[in-house]
Amino acid sequence: MNLNDIGGGLTPAQADGLACVACGADYLHIHVPHVPVGRSVTGSQVFACVGCALDARDERGKR
Ligand SMILES: [Zn+2]
Repeated sequence: MNLNDIGGGLTPAQADGLACVACGADYLHIHVPHVPVGRSVTGSQVFACVGCALDARDERGKR
């Protein structure tokens, strides 16, 4: 996952910060720790599960 791509291809829930932008977990139904990872094109803050956010950071660090 490339965090620079946030804003394209997100579901409405993801764009509203209600779901993980990486794995799509619905935070209204699935209670997992999540962290802000950026903003959607609409300016809403978007989130990823702690685990997903770490994975994304690791991938970015390799490049
Ligand atoms: Zn996730």
